[in-house]
Amino acid sequence: MARNYDLLVIGGGSGGLAAAKRASAHGARTALLEPHPLGGTCVNVGCIPKKVMWNAAGIAETLEEAPGYGFDLGETRLDWKRLVEARANYIARLNELHRKNLDGAEVELIRGWARFLDGETVSVDGQQVTADHFLIATGGHPRIPDITGAELGITSDGFFELAEQPRRVAVVGGGYIAVELAGVLNSLGSEVTMVLRREQVLSGFDPLMRETLTEAIAAAGVGFWTGVEAHEVTQDGQGKYLSLSGSEELGPFDEILWAIGRSPNVAGLELERTGVKLGEAGEVAVDDYQNTNVDGIYALGDVTGRIELTPVAVGAGRALADRVFGGQPQAHLDYSDIPSVVFSHPPVGTVGLTEEEAAARYGMDGYSVYTTIFTDIYYALLERKVKTAMKVLTAGPEERLVGIHVIGRSADEMIQGFATLLKAGGTLDDLRRTVAIHPTAAEELVLIG
Ligand code: FAD
Ligand code: NDP
Repeated sequence: MARNYDLLVIGGGSGGLAAAKRASAHGARTALLEPHPLGGTCVNVGCIPKKVMWNAAGIAETLEEAPGYGFDLGETRLDWKRLVEARANYIARLNELHRKNLDGAEVELIRGWARFLDGETVSVDGQQVTADHFLIATGGHPRIPDITGAELGITSDGFFELAEQPRRVAVVGGGYIAVELAGVLNSLGSEVTMVLRREQVLSGFDPLMRETLTEAIAAAGVGFWTGVEAHEVTQDGQGKYLSLSGSEELGPFDEILWAIGRSPNVAGLELERTGVKLGEAGEVAVDDYQNTNVDGIYALGDVTGRIELTPVAVGAGRALADRVFGGQPQAHLDYSDIPSVVFSHPPVGTVGLTEEEAAARYGMDGYSVYTTIFTDIYYALLERKVKTAMKVLTAGPEERLVGIHVIGRSADEMIQGFATLLKAGGTLDDLRRTVAIHPTAAEELVLIG
């Protein structure tokens, strides 16, 4: 029986959109299923609105620092509603742009939720759709803790729904979202308390990044409770209270924000009807080529629980379409040395191994470490000083670059180019032979060691 499509993509986020457009460009009859505005997490409740808020926070910091550079500004005030409205308008433009791009790529858009009837058929609001190939790109959702009163808190999704700026906020967690949203709120003038189960933020990052960021966040005025877990949330007329694993009770807060990780969106897909296997954390288990254990059913992006970043979902989607429909049987995303930036205050840019990972891989004598810590010239005229810290890790006698970590002003825009050098197999000597650009912070990376 002729099937409706060559490829049916479930989910119109970063990975699904990229895979669908590329497959269609290769001539595959492609449809994409999505109940919400196009763009997924990144466009609607992730990277994009977060970056807008990070930019707003940067402006607030600049306004505060302007007197140090001789400006007399008088009183400045943030109109949160206007900011949120402008952000929403921008996102609506992006949703529409994604729709037009899908039309232009001749991908059919089907609105609705998908659930599998079997390994060859999906039901969308009662309509049956068949395809030769299926791609599960349904992303993830924020976790909330399993404690009494957890529903009184919000997640990053709720953060982007806030109609008013909360004055007093507790942020639970110490990962990407926790440090990014705590930083935004703090810079915009909210009173922020971070609640971590470890001693430092960003576990899994290089220790120099963890330590420098934890210090910088505290120096910027954020309160810290470390080595504790949330136990219960209660509320009265004054606000919300967070009891910790000890006997402490924190609060009152206007909002308590859970930023404790994300879980894959598999509920409702009825994957059990297909035989597709899930991993330990409920993610769709895939191999290096995004194959599930069932022929013709693939998965990528956050639903696979593997490096949850937009360019990773996009890269995996394009490679999958090239492999299945583009005559490139070996095409797949190389998941090693993927750079990323944490949009904290200051930002962190990182690629490759941490020092702990380098030690484990190359042994104590098999790698070298180069570190520099300084204050960016921007702060020379200001009372507030924010440290920049850089670490370069090399391996072997040729000193091949295996890890580059930067925290400080402009680290967000600095790391991409250095990541390219590391990915290309560059060495410490390549850095040293490059003439520095002065006066910049990035020049310290070529002068390091
Ligand atoms: P998603 O983009 O989540 O898309 C999945 C889509 O599937 C959704 O549109 C959903 O509606 C749809 N869907 C779900 N179930 C079904 C179903 N049954 N039927 C049909 N459709 C369905 N990454 C970065 O690289 N840089 C950043 O700065 C960054 N910031 C972030 C900030 C926040 C607050 C968050 C939460 C995430 C951030 N990320 C960032 C991560 C990034 O957003 C994700 O890695 C990326 O969106 C994953 O893409 P995806 O295609 O796997 O899933
Ligand atoms: P992360 O995995 O980055 O961080 C989760 C944090 O929550 C960790 O600090 C973890 O602690 C803590 N945690 C987990 N469970 C509990 C618990 N029960 N109680 C208290 N704390 C807990 O997840 P996020 O939600 O911040 O972000 C999800 C993913 O989205 C990121 O991993 C990243 O891939 C992506 N993202 C990327 C961004 C970017 O590129 N700039 C920005 C935002 C998100 P511990 O360290 O002890 O495990």
